[in-house]
Amino acid sequence: QIFLGIESSCDDTAAALVTGGRRILSSVVQGQTALHADFGGVVPEIAARAHAERLDLAVEQALSQAGVALSDVTAVAVTAGPGLIGGVMAGVMFAKGIAAGAGLPLVGVNHLAGHALTPRLTDGIGFPYLMLLVSGGHCQFLRVEGPEDFTRLGGTIDDAPGEAFDKLAKLLALPQPGGPSVEAEAATGDPDRFALPRPLLDRPGCDMSFSGLKTAALRLRDQLIADQGGLRQGDRADLCAAFQAAVAEVLAEKSRRALAAHPVPVLAVAGGVAANRTIRAALERVAQDAGARFLAPPLALCTDNGAMIAWAGAERFALGHRDGMDLAARPRWPLDRSAAPMLGGGK
Ligand code: ATP
Ligand code: FE
Repeated sequence: QIFLGIESSCDDTAAALVTGGRRILSSVVQGQTALHADFGGVVPEIAARAHAERLDLAVEQALSQAGVALSDVTAVAVTAGPGLIGGVMAGVMFAKGIAAGAGLPLVGVNHLAGHALTPRLTDGIGFPYLMLLVSGGHCQFLRVEGPEDFTRLGGTIDDAPGEAFDKLAKLLALPQPGGPSVEAEAATGDPDRFALPRPLLDRPGCDMSFSGLKTAALRLRDQLIADQGGLRQGDRADLCAAFQAAVAEVLAEKSRRALAAHPVPVLAVAGGVAANRTIRAALERVAQDAGARFLAPPLALCTDNGAMIAWAGAERFALGHRDGMDLAARPRWPLDRSAAPMLGGGK
């Protein structure tokens, strides 16, 4: 069985072919960073139009790179939400066109389920496991019990960590995206020179907060500028190191609690922030201490891609799910069953 996955919920146009046996035959990701660079963020209308223009080519490339004809495909999986509605609609309409034209089954996929099921694609792990999803737009702990069985244990109550990294980079005039540049700067910094808060660490549970960290960093920066008349190179490095250490400690401590409350064999991460080596190392230690395996998929499969959508589609397909031409694009679509009685409604 071969599944075509289509992803267009944010600023990446992606298509991939993945087998039911976990082989990634091709994975094409077309970023849009340059299109949005002048606007300081993703512009939904620009993103939607770019997706509509590029989906055709992305799918074409995915098929040719895999050496697969559309007639060899078992089903078409597409992100049906959550995300920027224009982009999701472009993807859903395009997928419907292919499915109808080629007479293939259509399977709508939750984008977050795509991220959360990635360790099953990369490492073939079984259920249950814990997933920490940390990206520019999301931050949540999920207990994953089945391809459609997710329990949200907690998450950020304000900014996502990636967003906080990006804002810190902006404060310090470092290049975007902020995560990699803050990490590079932090490499030569002293994480102990500045004391940054550890928001919500004193509260029980797995909820987190990152906006206060950013505010504290802003105050420290302004204080340094007032005292010294400007920032010195070492100041930036020390601020970045302190910030990174604070994020790592919060994520690690909350992961420790999540694992203590849910002793499962695997702690997995996904999302762009999972690329950070300090954060990875902290999470790996937590998993080790709890006697759990730590899994971080390769970066290309941690950030948005079509392979995870193809795979999540394959898992839904195996459960018998098929969507009709009435498949709707959903801007909001919580993964948690209790929060989303509609989940799995496309049977
Ligand atoms: P989502 O997919 O949840 O809608 P997104 O598309 O912004 O959000 P990703 O592409 O998974 O998410 O991740 C991008 C984010 O990851 C950015 O905020 C970026 O700063 C952050 N990031 C990337 N590399 C690093 C790193 N080395 N350290 C910290 N953060 C990082
Ligand atoms: Fe994503």
